[in-house]
Amino acid sequence: MFEKVLIANRGEIALRIHRACKEMGIRTVAVHSSADADAMHVRLADEAICIGPPQARDSYLNVQAILTAATITNADAVHPGYGFLSENADFAAMVEEHGFAFIGPAPEHIRLMGDKIAAKRAAQEAGIPVVPGTEGAVENEEMALQVARDIGYPVLIKATAGGGGRGMKVAASAAELPGALATASAEARAAFSNGEVYLEKFLAKPRHIEIQILADMYGNVVHLGERDCSLQRRHQKLVEEAPSPALNADERQRIGQTVVEAVRTIGYRNVGTVEFLYEDGEFYFIEMNTRLQVEHPVTEMICGLDLVREMIRVAAGTPLGYEQKDIRFSGHAIECRINAEHPETFMPSPGRVGDYHAPGGLGVRVDSGLYSGYRVPPHYDSMIAKLIVHGANRNECMMRLRRALGEYVIDGLETSIPLHQRLMAEPTVINGAYDINWLETFVGGGH
Ligand code: ADP
Repeated sequence: MFEKVLIANRGEIALRIHRACKEMGIRTVAVHSSADADAMHVRLADEAICIGPPQARDSYLNVQAILTAATITNADAVHPGYGFLSENADFAAMVEEHGFAFIGPAPEHIRLMGDKIAAKRAAQEAGIPVVPGTEGAVENEEMALQVARDIGYPVLIKATAGGGGRGMKVAASAAELPGALATASAEARAAFSNGEVYLEKFLAKPRHIEIQILADMYGNVVHLGERDCSLQRRHQKLVEEAPSPALNADERQRIGQTVVEAVRTIGYRNVGTVEFLYEDGEFYFIEMNTRLQVEHPVTEMICGLDLVREMIRVAAGTPLGYEQKDIRFSGHAIECRINAEHPETFMPSPGRVGDYHAPGGLGVRVDSGLYSGYRVPPHYDSMIAKLIVHGANRNECMMRLRRALGEYVIDGLETSIPLHQRLMAEPTVINGAYDINWLETFVGGGH
């Protein structure tokens, strides 16, 4: 087992990783920007090294500085968290070339899943259902028109190098297709220096359902059920829950099994999430995330596993030690992402935290580095806390979540807590009857 892990991240996830390490008797190294010197995980880590100025490109994305920090602290392994360098295949490879373990998948799998067309092809070959569309990139207008005619309108044009919903355009008819192709391609070229696009059927009212998998180095793979992340604004997830109110046990078992077999086929290791759109009883692959996800706690709450601990164990070469039949799901969990932003205008609201009181009690978990007097820096993502609640069933979970949201005090900043309170009182949310477009309509786009 590792003796020392370097945490190449910040915020709540850095603290989350630190906690898992401590419980395993592993020492931690925090690397941080000059803006994060007072962060909770920096205070708690066994060692801390400042790796650069506030801007992420000079600190949390500074590969040389991070590798140097790992070398001088004599770390055995690097955990990348999510965001920043977590899905950078070159970084994972460099970590390994420098003699450290990368706590995540192999670089070749990160690379494969980072290319959307290659990922879709690999998924399809491994038996995962995908959205009907072009086999690869759109080569010319005639080809696009032909495929669109075969699958039926509306169709969606997506950038091969895509991310964050950029370079996506819907075409409702053949008349709209050439214009949409040109716009999507131009947008993709501007955003990713790569204008290549592909085309697929546009799903009008899908849910976002993702399957969590865990694999060791010896071909043992399990799935840990699904998460429903359909409450999104601008493709950003706001609330996640497990299990999905839309799936029955049979559907869960089938899609889980399909994903497990596919993951075993490609020889994937560590954690990963296969994301699907789900409509009218069918699953359609959209992408695979080759890292720990923000919303992993809802899975932990219903299956009683510490995912970061499992990541560290398998990265150190320990076999899983359990099989699918040993994974037991219990109750229901919901996570609310709490951002430092205005609950109606969504304007960022960094600054100094005044009074701070986190909720507690049975089944309540808060993943956050906040404390009274902490200054939320303006340089990074606005998420400052995750409130995760577990209950014996969905109703108990929601009652408890309303209670916990009511207790949460974060003075001095605008936060999304009032928005979560509105959501948890909303019949559509209570009934679990939303699709991925619902929240956007509910908040009115936020401007
Ligand atoms: P990105 O990498 O840009 O986030 P994704 O492929 O993950 O791109 O898609 C982002 C979002 O776009 C999805 O979460 C979903 O909301 C929407 N989307 C993607 N593909 C489709 C589709 N075929 N039909 C309808 N919506 C889609």
